[in-house]
Amino acid sequence: MTQQITVLGATGSIGQQTLDVVARHPDRYRIFALTAATRWQRLAEQCLASGARYAAMTDPAAAELLRNHLQAAGSDTEVLAGEEALMALAAHEQADTVVAAIVGAAGVRPTLAAVEKGKRVLLANKEALVVTGSLFMDAVKRHGATLLPLDSEHNAIFQCLPEGGVDGGVERLLLTASGGPFRTFTSQQLAQVTPAMAVKHPNWDMGPKISVDSATLMNKGLEFIEACWLFDVTPEQIEVVVHPQSVVHSMVAYRDGSVLAQMGTPDMRTPIACGLSWPERVESGAQRLDFTRLAGLDFEAPDTARFPCLSLARAAMESGGTATAVLNAANEEAVAAFLAGKLDFMGIPAVVEQALERQAAPVCGDVDAVMEIDRQARGLAGRLIEERGC
Ligand code: NAD
Ligand code: MG
Repeated sequence: MTQQITVLGATGSIGQQTLDVVARHPDRYRIFALTAATRWQRLAEQCLASGARYAAMTDPAAAELLRNHLQAAGSDTEVLAGEEALMALAAHEQADTVVAAIVGAAGVRPTLAAVEKGKRVLLANKEALVVTGSLFMDAVKRHGATLLPLDSEHNAIFQCLPEGGVDGGVERLLLTASGGPFRTFTSQQLAQVTPAMAVKHPNWDMGPKISVDSATLMNKGLEFIEACWLFDVTPEQIEVVVHPQSVVHSMVAYRDGSVLAQMGTPDMRTPIACGLSWPERVESGAQRLDFTRLAGLDFEAPDTARFPCLSLARAAMESGGTATAVLNAANEEAVAAFLAGKLDFMGIPAVVEQALERQAAPVCGDVDAVMEIDRQARGLAGRLIEERGC
């Protein structure tokens, strides 16, 4: 039977690559719904190419433009608007699989809407899990959702784990990090990094927010938290290893000394295809790894003095409660300010650190309460950014 797929964040880097994989297998996958924030022209092209039954945009004005455009083109795609519409399409009974590829905490509610209907959820939107943590994982269990990680590291770990998860003799998880474009920069050089420099990643072609996160190593910090929740391990069971070539996508170390690695070229279509087809395997379109042409594989410890975001994320995870939601909210605000030229590069960890120090992070029993913490942390981060200036 064909799987009906909703892609949340269809116009982004992960969304587009998902559509690329889906289009290779019209016999297996059909696009049910596509959603995006504002880029209606891109969404229009995607609707026309995929024959999506529904499309939704958070921005009502963009949705109107999309609707007019699709009508003029004779398309049958029905266009909806607002966050509620995204949630409805994520939860729709005809959607079997939901690809969660919105960037940031904006993805929390639509992703949870899919989880709460017990869908097969392919998670790229790591921030949703970082923000809601145990609430998210409890909802997965309670509603019988199937959660498959698309983040390349977590997808690699997922593939290397034994069937029963970490209880099957696993000692630790080795999370690999490319080290980002400024891995060899001195502190003085890091202070001069501009947005244009930060959005260009050496190995991966990604959206602007995650590119900056990769440059500060906050991406690895968020992934560290994501791994704790996904695989039910303690912070002590995860080791971050810098591996500049991004060929080994992560590893699992076992009690007997064995280490299993998942490898491949750095192409997100591999974990996307894995998530779509699991436990089967389908063609992804990714270039194959040619071992005879690999110059070498290097590994080194991360430098948390030059890249403090990794330590901040670890500390937030260890302190518990909603500290990881505060970390994420402050980081999102700081990255947006950096991209807008209102904050210097090293201002990002500085703002996150101060937000964590100043904002209380209680344990919250529901998503509304966590989103209120997120809102407060954004307000605080905004004030800290203004104080620091640029
Ligand atoms: P992107 O910026 O390229 O795309 C983001 C998508 O989210 C777009 O479709 C946009 O319309 C939508 N969006 C943005 N704000 C929204 C809002 N407020 N409400 C609803 N939709 C909104 O981002 P990306 O690089 O594709 O990353 C998406 C997610 O996947 C992120 O959480 C990122 O960390 C994760 N991820 C990305 C990659 C990658 O290679 N790009 C790899 C691993 C994980
Ligand atoms: Mg990753």
